[in-house]
Amino acid sequence: MAKIDPIARAAAMSARGLILKAPYPGADKPWPAICKTCMQPTKSSYTSVITKGQGPCFTCGQRKSSAAAARKRAVPAEVAEDKIREANVKPLETFPGTQGAWRGLCLTCLREIDVWYCSVVYSGNGACYYCSGTRQIPDADARAELLTLGLEALVPYPGSNEKWRSRCTTCKKIVDPTLCNARKTKSPCRFCAQRATDPEVAVETMKEAGLRPLTAFPGNVKAVWRAEHIDCGKQVDAVLDKVIQRRRASCIHCVQYGFKQALPAFLYLLVHTALGAAKIGICNDGSGRIRTHELNGWRQVLVTPLSGYQAVRAEQHVLNHWLALDLPQGVSRLDMPQGGWTETVALRDRSLPELREAFDAAVASAVRPRCSGSATDPSPSEEDGYLF
Ligand SMILES: [Zn+2]
Ligand SMILES: [Zn+2]
Ligand SMILES: [Zn+2]
Ligand SMILES: [Zn+2]
Repeated sequence: MAKIDPIARAAAMSARGLILKAPYPGADKPWPAICKTCMQPTKSSYTSVITKGQGPCFTCGQRKSSAAAARKRAVPAEVAEDKIREANVKPLETFPGTQGAWRGLCLTCLREIDVWYCSVVYSGNGACYYCSGTRQIPDADARAELLTLGLEALVPYPGSNEKWRSRCTTCKKIVDPTLCNARKTKSPCRFCAQRATDPEVAVETMKEAGLRPLTAFPGNVKAVWRAEHIDCGKQVDAVLDKVIQRRRASCIHCVQYGFKQALPAFLYLLVHTALGAAKIGICNDGSGRIRTHELNGWRQVLVTPLSGYQAVRAEQHVLNHWLALDLPQGVSRLDMPQGGWTETVALRDRSLPELREAFDAAVASAVRPRCSGSATDPSPSEEDGYLF
């Protein structure tokens, strides 16, 4: 058996990049040393480094293998660009690697964004923080975007994943899509998305206008459809086509159920901030009607005591004013389970000063002694009947 030469063994270890810190301890024993590359202490044995030919330094070995893994993981720029285009983003600079922020243009919302490749491609997250709703876009931008989608916002922008009270610019009906959903759907208005001749939509359109159909949909938008005016209980012959065109129903004999004209009453103006709407209404003294509205989120703006007759005239005065301006209803039927949605207007259409002015004018006109035959009286004549 050849004699072991500790000096030769130390030289062999030294040649592998180690500064030995102790005499030869034996072939399989840890041999304290310092790695010349990383200057970290090592304890690799003579057997592992020289006989087996393994790396002399554990720290350097780790670093090498993670560098190799990173090279393996590295994504070629063309592949990265294809992947990011699939996420509907146009790269605005060369690929910085999977760990860096990559400037791009979101082709969904047309905003410049920083894309995190790992997050999009490996974790399957949305590429755009605006589209996903994590970053708030300015109110004005959001409104402008909604308008290009065919909807007009009625309240401030709540965030792209929150329901946003708005109005279809085509059919003037109220809808509440989230901005994200409005972007995705072909027609963000559920009414426009369906055809008017769909019986369910036809019934819904009648109810929105304050009419309860008494028969099944006649199947034709121009056919007469017997219905009941929900507010007053009177039967009317409605024509769906006219109901769709006319944004606000008018019923000249209309006095609400349960309202007693011979008793003292109130004319009231309410506002609902979250719905972005105002409401005009009348009720008898002690009816609790205003309280019911308040429990549903409405707030009093003006309340004036009048005689029952005057209250009816004053309310009609305001409604005729809105009718003449062709203003759509301010809320939808489902917003007011307590009833009264046909006497609403959007705050987008009427400011508070305008509403106060109309209210005061209505009260003044109702308490003024009536001079018959006035040519300027805007209320519809008897012959007009129901304006449906
Ligand atoms: Zn090392
Ligand atoms: Zn986007
Ligand atoms: Zn619509
Ligand atoms: Zn009526």
